[in-house]
Amino acid sequence: MSFYNLKHPEQEVSFSQAVRQGLGKNQGLFFPKAIPDFSNSIKELLKLPLVERSAKILYPLVQDSLSEDEVLQIVTNAFNFPALVQSVDEHNAALELFHGPTLAFKDFGARFMAQCLQKFTQEENQKITILTATSGDTGAAVAHAFSGLDNIKVVILFPKGKISLLQEKMFTTIGGNISTLAVAGSFDDCQGLVKTSFDDLGLASDIGLNSANSINISRLLAQICYYFEAAAQLFRQRGNIDELVFSIPSGNFGNLTAGLLAKAMGLPIKRFIAATNLNDTVPRYLKTGEWEPKETVATMSNAMDVSKPNNWPRVEHMLKSGIVPETCLSSVMIDEQETQLAMHKLNSMGYISEPHASVAYKALQYGLSATEFGVFLGTAHPAKFKDTVESTLGCLLGLPKELADCASETSLSEDLDVDFEQLKSYLLSHCKS
Ligand SMILES: *Cc1c(COP(=O)(O)O)cnc(C)c1O
Repeated sequence: MSFYNLKHPEQEVSFSQAVRQGLGKNQGLFFPKAIPDFSNSIKELLKLPLVERSAKILYPLVQDSLSEDEVLQIVTNAFNFPALVQSVDEHNAALELFHGPTLAFKDFGARFMAQCLQKFTQEENQKITILTATSGDTGAAVAHAFSGLDNIKVVILFPKGKISLLQEKMFTTIGGNISTLAVAGSFDDCQGLVKTSFDDLGLASDIGLNSANSINISRLLAQICYYFEAAAQLFRQRGNIDELVFSIPSGNFGNLTAGLLAKAMGLPIKRFIAATNLNDTVPRYLKTGEWEPKETVATMSNAMDVSKPNNWPRVEHMLKSGIVPETCLSSVMIDEQETQLAMHKLNSMGYISEPHASVAYKALQYGLSATEFGVFLGTAHPAKFKDTVESTLGCLLGLPKELADCASETSLSEDLDVDFEQLKSYLLSHCKS
């Protein structure tokens, strides 16, 4: 199976190239040439455990670069924590994706990508540097996923003093092959420095730059697997998987892309709701046909504060080319007050939820029919948004072990000005192979 560039369909690459390159010519996104169809073996697939099933689903997509055994090994290393379906009432359940090392769903994609890259770089005895900017979750997931891997250095830029101390400690205390730089500027300044580094072709090739960001196809492929896992658990719990509706708290729309791919591969999902916060470019687009991103606004569900979702071209391609029916997607904006109301509603049913999952839950409350069953994705552990959850619900949350452990460690980050030359000399002295 090869992958092609959605902007330049004549550009075709192998899975291994797509993972290492990230983006195609002209910033085009890679997309599978063909989508495997498992519709005749869904029942059998759902009986398998997560790891074994995931290897089976992914193998046809990556077989030009990995053997069946290699895929199984990669998935075994990557998915060493569960995805859990928790019912909240007779018609709704949460799919909890936050039981990994950094307590967010991004662990699935980042760990799978790290294992793939490790395999590909070992084969070619290549050294690479992952350079990424983070406003929180991505940095932690990437740092943990790549920690201790051979041939791969990771450099993470974050805006100094602009993310919570706990979030910062999740990736600045690891050390080893993970370096972190506290930039005296904003998140946009950090992203600007990353972009300038990639544009410096000499630097990029000297240190083997790769961004590991959410447009990397490997991260999306990994995320397909937990939709199958959700269906497997629901089948066991309810005896059927009829009329499933997934509600996805969306920022860059990677999670939604993976869900649509799962449906295209034969998983019987009736429809999807893409739930956004006030950053509602997509719901407005689906209503009016006009793509009009506005200035990004800050919300409680800050991992979704994205006004130009970078995976949208993949979603649009699947809808327009009939890979999934256009009628299977709707999108709704949930404002801050509705998000808080949803947190309260869930709390009254005995389920403590953070703002992102609450946005998705709220979206299900608009228009789930009597025969449908709603599943909303829990993308982060409530403790990751401790202050918001505590102040909204008026309760106190304990810290899970992962957070408590790193809270007491010392940050190893170094300071950096918003100065590309300073970053460049840092990279050349720390990451040159
Ligand atoms: C990244 C993130 C999202 C958004 O996911 P996309 O795939 O970018 O749409 C939602 N919730 C949390 C907690 C996240 O970290």
